[in-house]
Amino acid sequence: MSIKLRTVLWFSLMVMLISTMVLVFVLVINGSSVTPDPAERLVKIVLGNADDVEFDNGKFDWDDLHFYKRGVSCTFYNEAGERLRGAVIEGIDSEFLPLEADKLRSFSANGETYLCYDTYVDMDISGLWIRGIVNSADKSGLMHTIMVLTFTLLPSILLLTLGGGWLIVWTSFRPMDKILSAADSISDGGDLSARIALRRGPSEMKKLSQSFDRMFERLEKSFEAERQFTADASHELRTPITVILAQCDRARRKDKTPEDFRSSLNVIQEQTEKMSELVQQLLGLTRLQHGTDRYKLEKLNLSEFLPACAADFMPEDERGIELQTDIQSGIEIRFNPALMARAVQNLLQNAYKYGKDGGHILLSLKKTDEGVRISVKDDGIGIDSQDIDKIFNRFWQADPARNTGGGSGLGLSMVKEIAEFHGGSVSVQSTPGEGSTFTISI
Ligand code: ADP
Repeated sequence: MSIKLRTVLWFSLMVMLISTMVLVFVLVINGSSVTPDPAERLVKIVLGNADDVEFDNGKFDWDDLHFYKRGVSCTFYNEAGERLRGAVIEGIDSEFLPLEADKLRSFSANGETYLCYDTYVDMDISGLWIRGIVNSADKSGLMHTIMVLTFTLLPSILLLTLGGGWLIVWTSFRPMDKILSAADSISDGGDLSARIALRRGPSEMKKLSQSFDRMFERLEKSFEAERQFTADASHELRTPITVILAQCDRARRKDKTPEDFRSSLNVIQEQTEKMSELVQQLLGLTRLQHGTDRYKLEKLNLSEFLPACAADFMPEDERGIELQTDIQSGIEIRFNPALMARAVQNLLQNAYKYGKDGGHILLSLKKTDEGVRISVKDDGIGIDSQDIDKIFNRFWQADPARNTGGGSGLGLSMVKEIAEFHGGSVSVQSTPGEGSTFTISI
């Protein structure tokens, strides 16, 4: 049995139970005062009127008297039998049926059977006849009213409860079908771009769909990261693998001197190191790009952090390039130290790699109105204006042949991803032959 049906049935059952209980309660309370018999009612109402007759300033006080009550019509006559007040049922008056005190009579008129009860109230100065007439088939009794109400109202309330309950539960659970079909299309067809994107519906369902959508998004990112990593890695590893296989082939051939073996092994080691470095970089970049790794941000002093990064960066050969710093003190921001060090070192490495012998590199940090700017300036070969847009792309290199000191074209895309991870961006200004300035703005 579905939740919808269960909920509706439960509430309907409860409504029925409560209604029945209220009905029983009302019946018990009213049991004593309820007069189902018309004759009994007639006598009671006429005598009730008789008790309430009052004489005020020589006149009858009609205010407290009932002319019509629960099916009983009352007419008032004077001592002489002349009608004073009250409606007369057509054709039935004191002449048709003479007044006769305290006697219950039955008569037929207009094709109906009536009951009549008269009483005389003696007020000393004057007297008053009260005549009550009720249709013998009259069902104006309270019990009758209760029964009618019970059998018409109760089913209506029950129907209303069933209908309303079903409608509410049905509309509340309808989004569930959407969630299920989105989950199905992901698991069946592998369509990771499917989203529930619930716009209308109960707030709980909207929250549920939002968290499902977030989960689907992360899933999609993870799969996309894996796909991209596999594609990039297989593409980039093809060359070193070919070189390694060729060297193995070469070494296996006959008449090889120990020198030849050593040279082949050197090439193999070099290519393997290159592959290892590439895989590391690629993995880091893919994880960062697709948000599959969690990097914590910490509020740290960037002014103290950057000089430490620069100190770690020590070029090995003697190209005579001088590294200078211009750091504004006391700048604190939230950043991830490992990632920030990586970005700065990539920029410094490039500045060194593409800088001129005996040149200068300037690492500076400034706080501006827009935020914090970290820049690395060199006076090296610069970048052609038509290449500026491409340098942040994965694997892009202006001239791979020139790249003797390693490098795979991933360094700047890593810098870009790191800047974006910190909510910032990276830009470059360059003049061929004069040098370049890379700026990370956060
Ligand atoms: P890699 O340096 O490993 O080739 P990068 O992504 O770091 O890869 O850089 C991509 C390309 O951008 C480089 O191959 C180079 O042509 C160019 N480039 C990067 N930095 C500089 C620089 N400071 N001066 C001149 N060209 C640069």
